[in-house]
This record gives sequence, C-alpha cells and structure tokens, in this order.
Amino acid sequence: MGLEDDNQRVRIREVRFRSAEFPVDPPILMAHGALTRRALALVELVTDGGVSGLGETWVNYPAWAVTERRATVEQGVAPLVTGQTLDLGADPSAAIAGLVRRVASRLAPLARQWGAPGPLQQALCGLEQALWDLAGKHAGRPVADLLGRCRDRVGVYASGLGPHGRGVDVAEQVRSCRAEGFTAAKLRLGVDRATDQRTLRSARDAAGDEFELLADANQGWDLEEALRMAPLLRECGVAWVEEPVAGDRVADLEEFHRRTGIPVATGENRYGPEAWDEALRSPAVAVLQPDVSKTTGLAALARLCGAASEAGKWVQPHLYGGAVALAATLQVAGARTGVTRVEFDVRANPARDDVVQEPFRRDGAQALLPTGPGLGVALKDGVLGLLGSHGDRP
Ligand SMILES: [Mg+2]
Repeated sequence: MGLEDDNQRVRIREVRFRSAEFPVDPPILMAHGALTRRALALVELVTDGGVSGLGETWVNYPAWAVTERRATVEQGVAPLVTGQTLDLGADPSAAIAGLVRRVASRLAPLARQWGAPGPLQQALCGLEQALWDLAGKHAGRPVADLLGRCRDRVGVYASGLGPHGRGVDVAEQVRSCRAEGFTAAKLRLGVDRATDQRTLRSARDAAGDEFELLADANQGWDLEEALRMAPLLRECGVAWVEEPVAGDRVADLEEFHRRTGIPVATGENRYGPEAWDEALRSPAVAVLQPDVSKTTGLAALARLCGAASEAGKWVQPHLYGGAVALAATLQVAGARTGVTRVEFDVRANPARDDVVQEPFRRDGAQALLPTGPGLGVALKDGVLGLLGSHGDRP
C-alpha cells in the first residue's frame, strides 16, 4: 500500500518551478516603472501518487524577479520540502501551516541577512497555495469547502485602469467597465501630476454619479504631492486611495489621512504580523489589501478577516497576477465574508485568461468561485510543459 492510501498521508516527491512571460504592448505605466510583460510563476508540488498542486508566486517586479524566484524556490525551498510527508486528513490546515512554518523558520535568518524578506515571503505564498491545492484535490473538494464555504460568488471591482498609450483613454475604460456591469473601478495614479489630473477628471466625467472611483498611487507620491492631489481626489469622489505615500510608512499614511480625511488602503507591501497589526490599529487605514501570492498566505488572509471586522476595516485582497492567484483569492473569499471585495484586473491578462481550460466566470460586479477540486484551476493541456522555460506563450 502506498503512502497516499494510508492514513491520509501524502509524500511530496518533487518541487518544480514553472514560469512564463507574456509581452504587454503597449506597456502598463506604473509609478515605479513600466510593466512590459505579464508573468506567471508557479510552485508545483508533485506527490508520490502523481497528484500535482500549484501555487502562484508574485514576480511583477523587478524584471528579473522570475530569475530570482526560480533560484529561491529550487535552491531554497525545494530541498526543505522534497520528501516531506503531510497528513491531509482531518485538519489539513494544521499540516500545511506546520510545513510552511518549518520552511520559513529555516529560511528566515537567511532572508534577513540577504535583506530579502519580501521575495522569501512571495516564494512561501506559492508553496502554501500549492499545499492547499493538494489538500483540496486530495479531498476532492474546492479549498473554499475546506476553509468553511459561506458563498459561491464574491464582489469585485475593476482594476488596471489608467494611462494607456495607444489611443485608449481612461474615460473609454470607465465606460467599458460600466457596460460590463462593474460598479467600481480603481485608477492608476502616481505617473506625473498632469497625467494624474487628466486621469481623475476624465474618469469622473465618464463614471456618472452612481459608479464608484478608487485610486492607487503605487507609492508614487511623497507626502507633499499626496496632499497637493487631495482636493482633486475629493472633488472626483474617490472613495479610498491606495498607497498615496510609501505603503509601509504608517506615520505618513496617518498624516495624509489626518489632513485630508481621505480613507487609505494598504497591504501589498506589508510583510509580517507586526505590519498587519500596525495597519489594523491605524485610524488612517480603512481597507486592508493582503495579497495571497505576495504578502499573506491563504490561512493568514482568512485569519486577518476576523481581526479586520473587529477593527471595523474592510479586507479587499490585492490581486495583480495570474490564474492561480485569482483562484486562490476567490477560494478564501468564498469562505470569509470579511473579504468585502476582490480586485479584478480588466486589462488583457494572458497569464490569467490564456492558460486555463475554463475561463473565470464573472457576472457583472461579482466573480463566481471556481468549482473544481483544490484551487479549481485546470491549466490547458501542454501549458505546464511550456511553463518550463521563459518567454513561451501557451
Ligand atoms: Mg497597488
């Protein structure tokens, strides 16, 4: 009898890193540089029984992040995970948390010395998602069921709107979102003052009264510039602004909020429990934005929902990645009403849409949870093979 038939234990035979990059044309303008490609980077765990678990690790920046992550996963994570056994029986969450904790405690001292707690956490997020995918597949159920499903669909807001380059303006993007049934959209600011002003005014004109506008400055302003932009943000009815200044500097976020009254969203650059406690305590922060492939694993996101609702804050997970990260986020959101809304990228996103057998289903401003076992992502035939090398397009 193999290990997988015995006491619900599975043994991880192999850890693989898979990636593909898709050119973006025209490039997506961000405060910290143009995004010239969308990338999908996956941690794949293969068990003795041949079951494959997939988890996504965030590699949007820098342009060489895929190279770094491959090395971190293959040389750092894989030796600690290969050959490990896992009891996915009664309480998979404890088994998953235990293994991730062991790997993290071995690598954290190195990451501190390296000055790279972020990249390590991003790699661990991929590992944890892959373990949940295995657990769900082992149970034959979606991960939302294992976490305690409470709904089958989740509210989303449109994201990715901003200066475009070739003739597609922000007003047109807002009109398109409205036509598709979205009720809110987030504008990318922090490019330069004239562009930001144009983005805000044209979006508000196109949005009408009912449609909600949100904004993300991508840490592109200093406090002085953020304060200068505040009257226009208010005039345009922006409901909250994400990272108007550095997202991990709560004193500046609080100063911005105290002087403008504008609610702040932060999270995609917060690492570790202390950073989340700080955001939970801050009167400036209205919206917490953990990212399951970057800052906060599935279990930590689920836990954060409870703390956030006690603190009177919303959890609206950050999401700017590929198919597996979206599926993982939706699985947690299907089990925690504390997730009040999920970010949904409306730009062309081949790393999300071109690799899956079944497209993600969205009904206006709601996304439907994937229904398959595990995270619910079935990649197209051959995609995993193609993901073995950079630059291939499935
Ligand atoms: Mg952001």
